[in-house]
Amino acid sequence: MEIKEYVALRKNAIKAQVETLSRKPCLSIITVGHDPASEAYVRGKKKDAAEVGIEAKQTWFPEDITEQTLLDTIRAQNNDPSIDGILVQLPVPKSISVEHINATIDPKKDVDGFTPTSHFRPCTPRGIIDYLTAEGFPFRGANAVVVGRSEIVGKPMAKLLLEKDCNVVQLHSKTKEEDRRFYFAHADLIVSAIGKMHLWDNSYSYRPSAWLVDVGITRGEDGHLHGDFVPGLPVAKQTPVPGGVGLLTRLALLENLMEAVSHR
Ligand code: NAP
Repeated sequence: MEIKEYVALRKNAIKAQVETLSRKPCLSIITVGHDPASEAYVRGKKKDAAEVGIEAKQTWFPEDITEQTLLDTIRAQNNDPSIDGILVQLPVPKSISVEHINATIDPKKDVDGFTPTSHFRPCTPRGIIDYLTAEGFPFRGANAVVVGRSEIVGKPMAKLLLEKDCNVVQLHSKTKEEDRRFYFAHADLIVSAIGKMHLWDNSYSYRPSAWLVDVGITRGEDGHLHGDFVPGLPVAKQTPVPGGVGLLTRLALLENLMEAVSHR
């Protein structure tokens, strides 16, 4: 199933689930300042929430807010039973510690899933695993290659694939080219999360049965968004950019929030 179709189906299911609840689930989005990219992400999150009947409550602070005020707001929301999930949209000004923010959000409400104590899986890897599962990807014993080792995508992605019984290899910028070619040629699944436009092309060998999941997003000189893989590689499945992992990530936030509601 195409990702767009899958996401629409899951959203319908979440909407139906919300309609059975006695109160609207509520996602708190805390933002600081005016970062254009962040504002666009927040608009997207609010739109997704509205589509399925979840309330998205935004609390905005100016750039000069103190860390204390922000942390006090999080603590108040931790104790507010009408709020199911809390996320602080990054970036925040340098005067505020992201570590302190992460340590303050109640792990049961930390729906972004970035911290090790969070009760939820981080949205991008969760979205990918859920989609691959729905599509019937044979995880057990599969050779999975993850390119990139960031805290928010690469590392949790590798961990979740290992939990699904894949043989996981994690590559990064220091991997030798000859080794990368070897691992790509033997991979049943490659998840690339580096953000370098069309780096992985036809000069690499892929198994015809391989699945390629493209997390990378780069805006090209043409003004359009592009992934790490050249489109149309000779494999079994390749996720598009745009309209691929980005949609799965947005969906996973809703899934995490519904999980928060069901565990209350
Ligand atoms: P990041 O923190 O910049 O990490 C990039 C990773 O790529 C690093 O681990 C780096 O290796 C590795 N890398 C860079 N060049 C490489 C190369 N030539 N070969 C192999 N590995 C290389 O980025 P991120 O936050 O994980 O995000 C990665 C990409 O995914 C970005 O384009 C971002 O916009 C996109 N993204 C998309 C979504 C979505 O929802 N679709 C969500 C999150 C991120 P080293 O560790 O050795 O430096």
